[in-house]
Order: sequence, then structure tokens, then C-alpha cells
Amino acid sequence: MASSQLPPFKVNQTRLLESLHASCQHGSAHSYGNDPTETGMARLSLTDSDKDVREWFIESAKALGCHTHVDQMGNLFAIRAGKNKEAPPIMMGSHLDTQPTGGRYDGILGVIAGLEVLKVLEENSFETEGSIGVVDWTNEEGARFPVMAISAAVWAEAIPLDTAWNLKEISTGDNIPRKTMKEELDRIGYVGETPASFKANPFAAHFELHIEQGPILEDEGRKIGVVQGVQAFKWFDITVSGRDTHAGTTPLYARQDAVLCAAKMITAANSVAKKANGLATTGIIHSEPGTVNTVAQTVNFSLDLRHTFDEDLEKMIADCVVEFQRIATDDSERGCTVEWKELVDSPAVHFDKDCISVVEESAKAVLAEFPDPASGGKQWRDMISGAGHDSCYTNRRCPTSMIFTPTRNGISHNPVEYCSPEDCTLGANVLLGAVLGYDKLRAKRGDFA
Ligand SMILES: [Zn+2]
Repeated sequence: MASSQLPPFKVNQTRLLESLHASCQHGSAHSYGNDPTETGMARLSLTDSDKDVREWFIESAKALGCHTHVDQMGNLFAIRAGKNKEAPPIMMGSHLDTQPTGGRYDGILGVIAGLEVLKVLEENSFETEGSIGVVDWTNEEGARFPVMAISAAVWAEAIPLDTAWNLKEISTGDNIPRKTMKEELDRIGYVGETPASFKANPFAAHFELHIEQGPILEDEGRKIGVVQGVQAFKWFDITVSGRDTHAGTTPLYARQDAVLCAAKMITAANSVAKKANGLATTGIIHSEPGTVNTVAQTVNFSLDLRHTFDEDLEKMIADCVVEFQRIATDDSERGCTVEWKELVDSPAVHFDKDCISVVEESAKAVLAEFPDPASGGKQWRDMISGAGHDSCYTNRRCPTSMIFTPTRNGISHNPVEYCSPEDCTLGANVLLGAVLGYDKLRAKRGDFA
């Protein structure tokens, strides 16, 4: 879609934001200002507030004349019929669940913008070639049931339904039995009839508008990220073993100090990542026996390594293995040992070329009147997502891509998470243009023949 083919209508900013904040009445928490919208969110998946916002979503979709249905994982689908009702719909999706100390934009913006796109089509009586819909994916955050994007994963048949149904919530306190996803789906009445599978419920494509959750767009003064894919990551649990001895009587040269050894490894991982243009993070450190006056015998630390490309990630891991071994044997006085345990392996995700291209064309058209940013280049840029999303799973089963909007100070998973009304609206307009662009593309290539 060239700029001359911009859709003849735009999303309504006031209505978009009213709708977003109306949905956030269910589960708002952690007020940080005087305005009623200056709060964060605590809408954990399958809680009462999640049930309430689901009802709000379904009512809003029905008011637009959409057909709604629910699958076995409680994923919600709202479909606006096109000329060709039999063909699978283009879906706009994200999630309405949040972290316990979450914000009003992560996931929520993508679902609400999807509804707004349908409203714009409806008020303009615009008939699309194929059907267009919105999906709210259950438990994307993995905050209550600790597997992220699990319901999109079940739809993609990457995780079996029973495994997901039997997944227990994280502990809510001593002696309180932990509920499973199925129990909570039953309790709030959202075990739907539609099989949770791309086979029974196929999509023509999946577009996800999401806040960037990082500082890059804001730092560069840009408005839109055209997301190309999601970086690869692996998580490890590293165990360093030394010997516990007295802190006062053991000279430095005679130690097998696991904490000192682990500290050097963490620093080394940072250097490896810097050199490779990747990321290395240690978020958990645990030492034994853990007293002030004893050299630690054992340290466990987490290591999260990430890179845009699988090969570069493998090279980073290999470099860390060599460095950690060198530190343990040659740079730790009397020596320590190091063991690696892999916890998570998430390969790089590459989104669909056609989806990326309609997003880029739409961004160009929507941002045509904006002056170029002072940092140079355009108001939009290619980006790789640093975080996982529902789109990582839909991408396995249908053409998928994502659109990012700026995030104030790069902060998310935090009550003060914020994207300005203007930027939310630009993102929603890019989503609208992308969906209509893809709809045209389908007709042109004969999807409905
Ligand atoms: Zn999200």
C-alpha cells in the first residue's frame, strides 16, 4: 500500500484512550498520581478482574456486530465478517492479563487497538475482502501460571492442551492449595468449545501492536518500530564449587572462593556479550553457606544470554564456557569447578516478509507528514524484539509480525509504564493500515479464488 493508498479513515484517539482506560477499570492498582488513569494494573490471568475484563471485551465486540467465540484455553476471538466469510480471518492480537505490578499498556494496547480498528471499519461501513478479528490470549505474562504465552503456544500446538490445563499457579502462600489453569478457567466460566488449535481455528495472519518495553524508540526520537523478529535466548543455572574456610585464618592464596570466582565469571559474560553485540544478564545469585566470616563453598547464579542470531548466541555461549573454565582453574587461587545446566532454549524468531512489508508501508504512510527525527533516519525503524510475545507462537503457524510504540523511559512491568495518547494512536493507525494492506494482498494473490 503506497502512501497514496492510505485508508480513507483513521482511528479515533479519544475513543481509543477511553476504551483503554475503561478496560483498565478492571484490575487497576498501584496509584501514582491524582488522575484516575495514573495507576498501574494487577490483573493476573483468570482472576476475577480478568473475568470482568473478558466480559467487557465480549460486550464491546458484540456491540460492533462481531461474532465472538472462546477456545479451550479461554482465548477470546472477536471476528468482523468480510466479503469472504469462509476464509480464515486476519487477527490482531495481544493480551489483557498483566504482571502483579504491571502497567496499562503492555498487551492491553494491542487488544484495545484491535477493537478500535474494527470500530473504524464498522462506522465507515467498510467491507474488507476477508474477515478481520481481534484475539485476547490467556496468561501471556506467565505471571500467575508460570509459562509465558502458554495459550498461544497451545493454539500453535507447541504445548499440549493437558500440560497447560494442569499447570499450577505460583504459590500464593503457605497452606493455600495451588489452582490449575483448568480449575480457574472452569471457575470463571471460560473453557470454550472451540478447540485450542490452529488447525480447527486457523488465521490468515496475526498482527500484534505492542509497546516497545525498551528505550530505543524514545532515545532516537522515533515513533514506530517495524519488528523483524525476536532475538534468541538461553537461560542457564551455573554452579561454582569451591571450599568453605574461615575468612580470618585462610590467606587469599589458599582459598577456593566460589563467590569471587562467580563474580569474575559474571564480569566475563558481560565482556563476551559486549564484544558479540549481544546481552548477558545475571539476575539471581545464591551462595552457601552464606555467612559473613566464611569463604563461600558453593554459588549458583542464573545466566540469561541473548542475541539476534542463533549462530552468534552459540558463539557467545562457547566463549563463556571457555572463559568460565579458565577462571575456575587458572584465576581462582586453589581452583574451583564450574557446571552448566540449561534451563530454557528459545531460538530466534523471524517474522513473515509480507507482514513486515505491509507494516512498513503503513508506517511510511501514517508518518509521512512527520519531520525526520534529529537523530537522523526516519520516524520508523526496523527493530528486533528483546522480549517474547504471543506472536512468537503464532509465527509458527501463520504469517505474523509486530509493531512497536515508544515507551516512556523504556519502563514496563511497572505501574508507571506509559505510552502517550498520540503514540498509541499512531501505533493503532499503523495497525489499521497494515491489516487493510494485508487484506488487499490476499485478494490480489488469490486467497479467495
Ligand atoms: Zn506483553
